[in-house]
Amino acid sequence: MIKLLTGIFFLFSTFSLSAQTRIYSCSYYGEKAKMTRMDICLENNSFAFGLSDDSRAITIVDKIMEEVGLPRNFLVVECPEIENCKAVNYLAKTGSLRYIVYDDKFLRTLDTASATATDYWGSISIMAHEIGHHLCGHTLDSIGSRPDKELEADAFSGFIMYKLGASLDQAQAVFKAMTDLYGDATIVSTHPPLRNRLAAIRSGWNNGWSSNYRQQQNKNERPVLASWDDIAMELYNDAYLLNKTAKHKEAALKASTAIHLKKDFADAYVQRGLAEANLLQTTEALKTLDSALTIDPSLTIARAYKGRAYTNAKSYSFAEFEFILAMKKDSAHPVAWAERALLRNTQGLYDKAIKDAETALDLGYQDVHIPLGVIGYAYFKKKKYTEATYFFAQALEYNPIDEFSSKWGQQAYKLMKAQQKKPKAGVKK
Ligand SMILES: [Zn+2]
Repeated sequence: MIKLLTGIFFLFSTFSLSAQTRIYSCSYYGEKAKMTRMDICLENNSFAFGLSDDSRAITIVDKIMEEVGLPRNFLVVECPEIENCKAVNYLAKTGSLRYIVYDDKFLRTLDTASATATDYWGSISIMAHEIGHHLCGHTLDSIGSRPDKELEADAFSGFIMYKLGASLDQAQAVFKAMTDLYGDATIVSTHPPLRNRLAAIRSGWNNGWSSNYRQQQNKNERPVLASWDDIAMELYNDAYLLNKTAKHKEAALKASTAIHLKKDFADAYVQRGLAEANLLQTTEALKTLDSALTIDPSLTIARAYKGRAYTNAKSYSFAEFEFILAMKKDSAHPVAWAERALLRNTQGLYDKAIKDAETALDLGYQDVHIPLGVIGYAYFKKKKYTEATYFFAQALEYNPIDEFSSKWGQQAYKLMKAQQKKPKAGVKK
């Protein structure tokens, strides 16, 4: 453990760590979290945070967000053995990112203690409480847990529990279980006494009930029907998000349906083309992206993705040509630079890859973890494992579920440690 932490300290003292700082954390009960997320996960000896299966936690978060009608724009990260669940905000280059950090075993223990074996209201109520903190804006200041904030988050949890079908008893059960399991830990100065929290849950649960009651009074109210264009736009949004999470088959299907509904939907062609390029359906990808360019010749991104399609097919000179055209059209398009950086890495031109990826970042490339991963990989190939580890770690700060940076980051970290052990050539005792 000491060794691992020393390694990380070494990393952080070599490079300035400005991109990521913990500014707030609220724990579910009064144990004060003093560590950064990375610390928390490293404390548990897992550099590979984000590799564990988050699907149950994500399903719960999605269920809750469905009731609120907002997208899940939190990163859900498991840190084993923290025995807690936290809403955390980390400063990032492009603002800050919201995290739900949780310990799966902790949640399951409370489920068992508070439930009738098969349901998991305990997990849902805790997650709802943490999401409540984020949605109430509690995670925006640096103060941390405070009794009034806890009660707001508890009320939100009660509201959601009603909406999802829990009885009031079920909504409150987790507190009783927690007191049984953790005793006094639930009553500390940052968190209100148990009876106040139970009252907050009840008031939220009642609010849920009354909003439902109002809805039933208004029997004439009907949802507004969406137009075909609206539906096409929704499908496009889905495709865009699916591509971002590497679900290219599903993305291609959604984008195709969007195009079917709206023939001149250039952006949907772009998403379908990107999906096809990643599925190595090069001919289809090029055709689809050309269709996008026919509809809108100014779409530099379509050119950049044609470059990706050629890169994936190992047709490097064709890829090169697309990037020349793209940059001629718009030399400040971050996607063109990021895509060319990928090509450079594939060609083994690592210094050029680093330059291109840095330019993409300077130009405001949205998914910063991608250029950061490209830079990490270039350093890895140059056998500069310290730098590589640093950039992969940065990429993971922005996107903890980035499998590429997680996989290569672990390799780089191991090789960096091995490199540090080796005595320098020519030095003799
Ligand atoms: Zn809280």
